[in-house]
Amino acid sequence: LSIATRMAQGIPDEVMMNAALIKQLAEVARDEALLQGVLMRTKETPNSSELVTYAPFTLFPSPFPKAAFLQALAVQTHYNTLVDRISQDTEFLLQALASTIEVDDFSARLFKIHQQILNEGGSRSIVLGLNRSDYMLDKRGDQPPSLKQIEINTIAASFGGLSSRTPDVHRRVLKMADRLEESQHILDNNPAAGLAKAIAKAWELYGSERAVVMFFVEEVQRNVFDQRCIERELWKRNIPTFRKRFDDICKTIRLDQDKRLFVGGNEIAVVYFRNGYMPQNYFSEQCWEARLTMERSMAVKCPDIVSHLVGTKKVQQVLAKPGVLERFFPDQPQVVEQIRATFTGLYSLDMGPEGDRTIAMALAEPDRFVLKPQREGGGNNIYGSEIIQVLEKVKDSSERMAYILMDKINPAPVQNYLLRRDAPLAVSSCVSELGVFGAYVRQGKDLLMNECVGHLLRTKSSEHSDGGVAAGVAVLDNPLLV
Ligand code: ADP
Ligand code: MG
Ligand code: MG
Repeated sequence: LSIATRMAQGIPDEVMMNAALIKQLAEVARDEALLQGVLMRTKETPNSSELVTYAPFTLFPSPFPKAAFLQALAVQTHYNTLVDRISQDTEFLLQALASTIEVDDFSARLFKIHQQILNEGGSRSIVLGLNRSDYMLDKRGDQPPSLKQIEINTIAASFGGLSSRTPDVHRRVLKMADRLEESQHILDNNPAAGLAKAIAKAWELYGSERAVVMFFVEEVQRNVFDQRCIERELWKRNIPTFRKRFDDICKTIRLDQDKRLFVGGNEIAVVYFRNGYMPQNYFSEQCWEARLTMERSMAVKCPDIVSHLVGTKKVQQVLAKPGVLERFFPDQPQVVEQIRATFTGLYSLDMGPEGDRTIAMALAEPDRFVLKPQREGGGNNIYGSEIIQVLEKVKDSSERMAYILMDKINPAPVQNYLLRRDAPLAVSSCVSELGVFGAYVRQGKDLLMNECVGHLLRTKSSEHSDGGVAAGVAVLDNPLLV
């Protein structure tokens, strides 16, 4: 058999169902993951590295069609440009989010900070964007699978570090399973290096050698090693970093008369947000004040408040309306085409006939859709019969405007083993989600860097509707291009 045919067929049953072999492979895979640094702190000690374990991952890499993979990489710089252009279009953002911020308190609070910064004359001479656009493959009938965007994350997009360490684990497993040729087709991947390159560029533009890159991190830090990969890339360039939580920041944050940001006596050149994307992150009023102070400062924020808002699901839905992408790429119909090809159906629930039609459609066939509130971090979306329950409750009130509706994407399941601590070794039917990392830096009008810097494949058992590695559902994976 040719390599392409063999790979397209996936891991053969004689390997998949050979319990003794699988057990042996899983044991080696776990050790190799630890050796490579595919690490996570444990639930028991989330804030100390005394006890660590491997980040959950698949035993085998998952087949992924090469054409769709290359399509996702190719569109990434356009997504970067799109996010950056929307972030400069105050009028558009106000219109897009007007209904949402009427009813969603969290979005409203973020929006209020955005408006305050605008009223004060803005604070964005250097813009640093690190995002991750996520996709699944929609399989309809005999058609080839089609790449469809799930969402774009403009804040705290994770796993750019650990995903650089999983390729060697899968190479080792494939070799042991007598799949040497496939092992040579696992791609190298190093998003952390590209993300750090963009942070370093922003740090240089800020222009003060003593100033620090602040990793703004959550109270609970199980995923510290993913972030350490980026820290390490910065230290290699002799750029100092430190990690601070809201608690640390609230106590010592201040601005000087030039709006330079200081935390714990150190001047901050860049704030890299790995926190602040969920309502529960802001556990006190001081947290909101600290966010406002950071936004007001001349430190580079990654993301700044406006780019954070661009990543909302509501903006994604508005972008899918006819004619909207053209606003951002007026002379580039091919770019519009390329981006739009990755959109699936997205529907507004605003008050009025359009929203009414969306609700009727969802109530009639709930299994065709996903209902999404303006939340991040996994586990917030609504599926199946629960869509009916929620819609029946909100359909006659403005509360419904807090949600958008989206076509459900249906990837073809593939058999694999999900390796996670304390879970029995059992074959599962799995679906994968491809993430592509983008990085850009702008100073004034000049876009100084705009790159696609790597990828992430996450895989989950198809019995789970929602995903997320941090949410405990998805695991790390690698694409095996077929
Ligand atoms: P979050 O910001 O919480 O990650 P997502 O939009 O990525 O929100 O949704 C979380 C998960 O739900 C995804 O990782 C995916 O597994 C599933 N999901 C989201 N949208 C769809 C969709 N349109 N079709 C199928 N699954 C989806
Ligand atoms: Mg998200
Ligand atoms: Mg997501």
